[in-house]
Amino acid sequence: MPEQKHRAPTAQNDGQPRGDAPAGDDRTGTTAEEIAASFHGHLTRTVGRPLERSSVIDQYHALSFTVRDSLMDQWLETIETYRQEDVRVLGYLSAEYLLGPHLPNDLLNLDLTPETEQAMKSVGFDLESIAAEEPEPGLGNGGLGRLAACFLDSLSTLDVPVIGYGLRYEFGIFRQEIVDGWQVETSDKWLQFGNPWEIQASMSLVVGLFGHTETYTDDQGAVRHRWVPGYKVKGIPFDTPIPGYKTRTVNRLRLWKSEAVDSFDLGVFNSGDYAGAVRSKMESETISKVLYPPDEKVEGKRLRLTQQFFFTSCSLQDMVRIHLSLGKPLEEFDRKWTVQLNDTHPSIGIAELMRLLMDEHEMGWDDAWRVTQTSFGYTNHTLLPEALERWPLDLFGNLLPRHLEIIFEINQRFLDDMRRRYPNDDARMRRMSIIGEDGERTVQMAHLAVVGSKAVNGVAELHTQLLEETTLSDYYEAFPERFSNKTNGVTPRRWLMLSNPELTGLINEAIGTDWHKDLYGLKLLEPYARDTEFLNRWRKTQEGSKGRLAAYIKEMMSIDVDPTSMFDVQVKRLHEYKRQHLNALHILSLYCQIKSGAVKDLTPRTFLFGGKAAPSYTMAKLIIKLICQIGALVNSDPQVNHLLKVIFLPNYSVSLGQRIYPAADLSEQISTAGFEASGTGCMKFMMNGAVTLGTLDGANIEIRKEVGEENFFLFGLTAPEISDLRHAGYNPRGYYEKSPLLREALDGLRDGRFSNGDRGLFAPLVNDLLNSDRYLVLADFDAYVAAQLEAGKAYSDPSRWGPMSLLNTARSGKFSSDRTIRQYCEDIWELPVGKR
Ligand SMILES: *Cc1c(COP(=O)(O)O)cnc(C)c1O
Repeated sequence: MPEQKHRAPTAQNDGQPRGDAPAGDDRTGTTAEEIAASFHGHLTRTVGRPLERSSVIDQYHALSFTVRDSLMDQWLETIETYRQEDVRVLGYLSAEYLLGPHLPNDLLNLDLTPETEQAMKSVGFDLESIAAEEPEPGLGNGGLGRLAACFLDSLSTLDVPVIGYGLRYEFGIFRQEIVDGWQVETSDKWLQFGNPWEIQASMSLVVGLFGHTETYTDDQGAVRHRWVPGYKVKGIPFDTPIPGYKTRTVNRLRLWKSEAVDSFDLGVFNSGDYAGAVRSKMESETISKVLYPPDEKVEGKRLRLTQQFFFTSCSLQDMVRIHLSLGKPLEEFDRKWTVQLNDTHPSIGIAELMRLLMDEHEMGWDDAWRVTQTSFGYTNHTLLPEALERWPLDLFGNLLPRHLEIIFEINQRFLDDMRRRYPNDDARMRRMSIIGEDGERTVQMAHLAVVGSKAVNGVAELHTQLLEETTLSDYYEAFPERFSNKTNGVTPRRWLMLSNPELTGLINEAIGTDWHKDLYGLKLLEPYARDTEFLNRWRKTQEGSKGRLAAYIKEMMSIDVDPTSMFDVQVKRLHEYKRQHLNALHILSLYCQIKSGAVKDLTPRTFLFGGKAAPSYTMAKLIIKLICQIGALVNSDPQVNHLLKVIFLPNYSVSLGQRIYPAADLSEQISTAGFEASGTGCMKFMMNGAVTLGTLDGANIEIRKEVGEENFFLFGLTAPEISDLRHAGYNPRGYYEKSPLLREALDGLRDGRFSNGDRGLFAPLVNDLLNSDRYLVLADFDAYVAAQLEAGKAYSDPSRWGPMSLLNTARSGKFSSDRTIRQYCEDIWELPVGKR
């Protein structure tokens, strides 16, 4: 596709001040005085406000430009080094990046926090209040998007060359409000006041859609194919600098915005059709307008496929463009680039790279396939069959006719190959085909991703094992060497150092700071598990974090919670497989037992919940209502509320997570075994000294192995037990009849005891649990209650809890995303990891 050059100096939104800064200052000084001077310069000359009359948003913009100045020198230096050394580069393709606020994180990574605090104080402002003005870039739904963000931090910290590619959604993940206990969604206008962290690059690319394909004979007499798109859109790149922690490496996140190729049709306008003149602009801009929430079912949504193709095509064209600008032949594309697919969302890239190489750059099939297949790696994130992407063939062929032809040919060659290996095995061929033939014919994106990649990985040991044994077993049998596990991780910079400075200070004092870049260094804390004086300080520090969260809850929700009570926390997306309702049923049973007098002395607990439900996911929204209903019941009952408090914190996000994880005592990781691919929230809790209460699922298994079984509260059926139970015929009513606690809670829900007599309200939930209970909530209930009792007892004995908490932090080294990234670099990407 042709590339259009035009000049566009700095990233800004309409009507916003330009990022061009005044000349003549040293704008990248690192002393408090220099930072204050640069801030003042930006406030007056970039933002255009006098200091005395500036708003906090003005100050936030001025300070962000100040910090960005410091990043820019290193950014240019990084790009120049990569070019001169002709390094191999990772192209990380992800439909989601759940970044969280940049300002405090970039200050931490630049090691400029104390100087900046001082600088702001010197002009009469407070850094924390200024930072609170940053709208969180919520370009992701949950764990998958947050993983991409943690990976970028680790890649820069480890000096690995990467371009993160994705979509610049104008509206990110919705804001969640709770009205009368129900979730209400409002749109996230994160760009409305401009985004000082992005820089619009001065070029654009064109992406085709729809149309038809043609065959023609080229000058050499060879028969070739081409796509004649019916519609074209322009992709505009916006770059965000991603600094590593205490290194000069600043990588880039390149997000694409869609625009009309010709945004305003003057001819149409002059003819009097004013609406028609802007229609094409509106249709084109729809592509990068809004982030899709994950529905319970992936529906055949054309806009979603368009988004995926749009950003993937832009990104691959960009890599090809850079490659050619370095004077390299495309036969060597796979030596320069390694391309990682974060789930199947960008897997259309396999067909798109084939098309670019063959149709646009005249490569033959065999060479193009070798280059493509050795360039891509695919990370699988789910085993849920309803979440695996499948596109109806007619929708796909209508939008991307040339890609469908290419996929048919990939499939035919692949199946021919398999037929030679497994003769007379039609059932296997049907199972392995990229084209699904059960019912409606579909393109199965996970199959395309496996066939077109050199490497396939799951995200925790159990998940990879289940992928190999179930979802992708035929492929594992055919090419076992392609499969490996890469257990997820999280960046300790944001999730420990930034969110929990007090605990970080205490750890630094005890064992120094080497752990900041090598989290296994936290092992040095282990001896302190026997040091009572240190354990007292550990507990005090945690109570400080709990006190701050309590103050936040008081301010936001006007509810008092006791910072010395046990903070029992479940924050994550709302989903039945994550079983927030199991947690809720346990609270209900405690409530009933307190009311009946069966329980008198209980370890006082504050139950905290947070998480968004997909807007169309009715059951998840009902579970939010249930939690809020229990909160209303419990928090106002003087017979109960000195022992229990139940809080649903609205709008769970990265910034809210940064307040919550440090304040947790107990980490609830209670998904049905076999359903949580990895989980990463569990790792953030562990690093901050929370003890896990969980099932043998996802990364919990590895957490338990690292921390020791005595420092983990285990309960519930295992993945094989669940599959056996299912095969034997699971009957939830049997569990209901056997467990008095469960009966009282479910009967109460059905009879309206907890909902002012409203019998209909929770009926859908109770009926589902009694009649189907796909996620085995009832089967695990009694075991969960027993584990909770044990956890409560342990918490009430500080000599028992203290060492457990400290050892969770001390043994969390494995769960740094630095470790994960090293493994990808060594086993899949063939990228050297930089200096340590
Ligand atoms: C870590 C994180 C998640 C993932 O949490 P899980 O418990 O692994 O599901 C989701 N959302 C946000 C905002 C996070 O920070």
